[in-house]
Amino acid sequence: MKILVLNCGSSSLKYQLIDMTNENALAKGLVERIGIDGSRLVHEGTGDKFVLETPIADHKAAIGHVTDALINAAHGVIKNIDEINAVGHRVVHGGEHFAGSVIITDEVKKAIIECADLAPLHNPPNLTGILAAEELLPGKPQCGVFDTAFHQTMPAKAYMYALPMELYDKYKIRRYGFHGTSHRYVSQKAAELLGKPVASLKLVTCHLGNGASVCAVDGGKSVDTSMGFTPLEGLIMGTRCGDIDPAVVQFIMDKEKIDIKAALDIFNKKSGVLGISCVSSDFRDIEDAAAAGNKQAELALDSFCYRVAKYVGSYAAAMNGIDAVIFTAGLGENGKIVREKVCGYLTYLGVQIDLEKNNVRGKFVDIGKPEATVRPLIVPTNEELVIARDTAELLK
Ligand code: AMP
Repeated sequence: MKILVLNCGSSSLKYQLIDMTNENALAKGLVERIGIDGSRLVHEGTGDKFVLETPIADHKAAIGHVTDALINAAHGVIKNIDEINAVGHRVVHGGEHFAGSVIITDEVKKAIIECADLAPLHNPPNLTGILAAEELLPGKPQCGVFDTAFHQTMPAKAYMYALPMELYDKYKIRRYGFHGTSHRYVSQKAAELLGKPVASLKLVTCHLGNGASVCAVDGGKSVDTSMGFTPLEGLIMGTRCGDIDPAVVQFIMDKEKIDIKAALDIFNKKSGVLGISCVSSDFRDIEDAAAAGNKQAELALDSFCYRVAKYVGSYAAAMNGIDAVIFTAGLGENGKIVREKVCGYLTYLGVQIDLEKNNVRGKFVDIGKPEATVRPLIVPTNEELVIARDTAELLK
């Protein structure tokens, strides 16, 4: 069985074609700048990387180029699009509608539109991708895998904000959480590494990428997570501020004489480690600058790690102890300095990092000293594989 996994952003589309007999990605790629000047497809299949630079007006055209690349005689990996059994779509927000993945029906599409209010930048392009794929691959089952679904097991005490209840009743304002596909995958893989059933474990999963979130996973279920109503809450991120006093919003608007849109732009795009360091949102640049003596870069790094450690500590309290801390995503998998600094705060819990074992990138490995009673682990994430697995499962 071959599953095409699509992740549609507003002007981009990432894809993988996964062979479920061995779970290998036969091909993967990216379409960038959809609907704007300089559109291009970068495809990795058979042979050399294939790059196509051509105007790509919309998502339908983009998916058309993807299927062409997949069946191309030179760099394709299948003979005919009929070899694709189904399409799995990443959908960012499922609101309270979806606690798991689903086959896409008219009702599901309606619910995705309803949730567009909650994720205006993500759900509309996700739906556009679904509609385009339905047209171009008629008759193929389409499945939706939601970033929020894994967190639907959170208890009300974790997801309710202390706002007037009528705001929840009227608008469903609450914590939803994101990166659920990744938190779910790495918590299950961590159980494999620990040699215990996930149902018996208390884990804290740290998805540290450009967007970053921490999740408390008790017995395989999300019981709390750091992102909230939107991905802006929680950790300090590449360009997002994470937790701040909401009163700062009005204060900045008054002082800087800006509107709410401009203020949100600051919180989403100009803050985080970019804001503190004034260097970059990329941790490689920040680490280099800090090593060269840049004090603001050092502060950005310290603030980031301190915030991660505070969340891990609070989730250890929430679950009354933990068995392991898991690092994943771009920075979690590759950033040894960040892992070392975060674990440095957690010795009181029983986390003991082995610096030699920590000196790796992208490995599926336990980086703890033998005596560590809480194991620090690196678990590379694979959200595309989860989407493909869920899709295959739904087809049964
Ligand atoms: P993601 O959003 O998961 O793709 O992760 C992107 C983040 O991972 C960026 O901030 C990168 O700087 C960071 N990253 C990737 N490789 C490394 C590395 N070798 N050392 C430190 N950070 C890294």
